[in-house]
Amino acid sequence: MSSLTELYEKIAKCEACRLCKQRKRAVPGEGREDAEIMFIGEAPGWHEDQQGRPFVGPAGQFLDELLQSISLKRSEVYIANVVKCRPPGNRDPLPDEIGACRNWLDRQIELIKPKMIVTLGRYSMARFFPGGVISKVHGTARKSEGVTYFAMYHPAAALHQGSLRKVIMEDMLKIPSFLTQAEAASEEPSPQKAKKAEKVEKVEKVEKVEQAEPKQLSMF
Ligand code: SF4
Repeated sequence: MSSLTELYEKIAKCEACRLCKQRKRAVPGEGREDAEIMFIGEAPGWHEDQQGRPFVGPAGQFLDELLQSISLKRSEVYIANVVKCRPPGNRDPLPDEIGACRNWLDRQIELIKPKMIVTLGRYSMARFFPGGVISKVHGTARKSEGVTYFAMYHPAAALHQGSLRKVIMEDMLKIPSFLTQAEAASEEPSPQKAKKAEKVEKVEKVEKVEQAEPKQLSMF
């Protein structure tokens, strides 16, 4: 069992705040365990609570569209929330609930080690852009300890305020270039990059052998 799966089991049993009382299911998060990019939203809603999966309601459908717009699939990224259980009536999570749930998110980040973290909405932004205001900070990035943080409105904001749809789509289109920069600056190559480097090294070795052999033959 992977460390992340073990973590999910612990989250499912967590009773560290009042949100455990009304949840049907905890929603730890899902996606690639070695994802380079991690999206962090606010809290599960009704659909998420029913299924135990993040971003599966209408906001999740919009997130899927946004990912498609930059040629990414859900299976290639990691998606989580600041709190793992649904606040009753979809109210905003309270500061003590966010505080109680913080260790779970910290552990997820520690295990996944993303190069880029995209915050979706105010609560996630507040964690990584302290003192920031979403209307000013959205579409901007900051870097800290080798990780690039990028702030966006929550996809649900577009469902309530249609004019934000275009803004969110435009912000999403900025992600690939920040991700490329984050990858380039990263000291540790990702497993995909390591495989590519291994292949290049093998090809170079073969080429060297092929170049060396005719010379040896010409000596005889
Ligand atoms: S919201 Fe977080 S801290 Fe609260 S019960 Fe759920 S998993 Fe535990």
